[in-house]
Amino acid sequence: MTADAARTELRSIADSLQHYVEILKEGGLGGLPRTLHMSSPQAHPQARPQPPSPAEDRPIASPADIDGQALDSLAALRDAIGDCRRCKLCEHRTQIVFGVGDPHAELVFIGEGPGADEDLRGEPFVGRAGQLLTEIITKGMKMRREEVYIANVVKCRPPHNRNPETDEIAACEPFLRKQIELIQPRIIVALGAFAAQTLLQTKTPISRLRGVWHTYQDTKLMPTLHPAYLLRNPRDKRLVWQDIKAVLREMGRL
Ligand code: SF4
Repeated sequence: MTADAARTELRSIADSLQHYVEILKEGGLGGLPRTLHMSSPQAHPQARPQPPSPAEDRPIASPADIDGQALDSLAALRDAIGDCRRCKLCEHRTQIVFGVGDPHAELVFIGEGPGADEDLRGEPFVGRAGQLLTEIITKGMKMRREEVYIANVVKCRPPHNRNPETDEIAACEPFLRKQIELIQPRIIVALGAFAAQTLLQTKTPISRLRGVWHTYQDTKLMPTLHPAYLLRNPRDKRLVWQDIKAVLREMGRL
């Protein structure tokens, strides 16, 4: 390729990126999502960003995709996940919501999946339910949000906030398992029926799971009600407080 041709090529790629940024801004986004990448430097001069190919064409992750790799930190795991397209949830997300908090936290909270606010911000539990979770941590437990780790069963937002489907959980759960393996928390709190039932591989209702210690990957797990449920049913906050007190007792903080 000549120098002129290379310059033209670069200019066209820059134009495409600029156009994409404008689309994002119109949609109310302040910047590029972490997952943006260019698929080919040979893009046509008029080419615009293309939607991802159908998920059915892509392989579903097996645990070996991640478990087989010598990953020694959450940052290395996040890099290994990359711009993951292992399940169809990639098609509607803004970005992957990996998790946030102390990489060596004693206590890990696990929810179901990102909602709209989390999808935009790239951080779990930042909407109204997230604010309530933060209050539980800071006011109820007298801990800082940065002291714990917060993640979800699936890392991409299910469209219309539907429950993640079986194939999506199968594709994404290896990431969560690796996260737990790397963090090595003393205690996991599963937030809501979906997270608890998925992690414990049971259909038992949350009303019977909560308040009782279980085990996930050799780690003690306490299921409790989801903060979003508490927003609709504030009277049940007392049940969550019972569960949280059990967690605090186990941690030697009560
Ligand atoms: S939900 Fe998990 S497996 Fe599916 S695309 Fe997102 S990161 Fe990948």
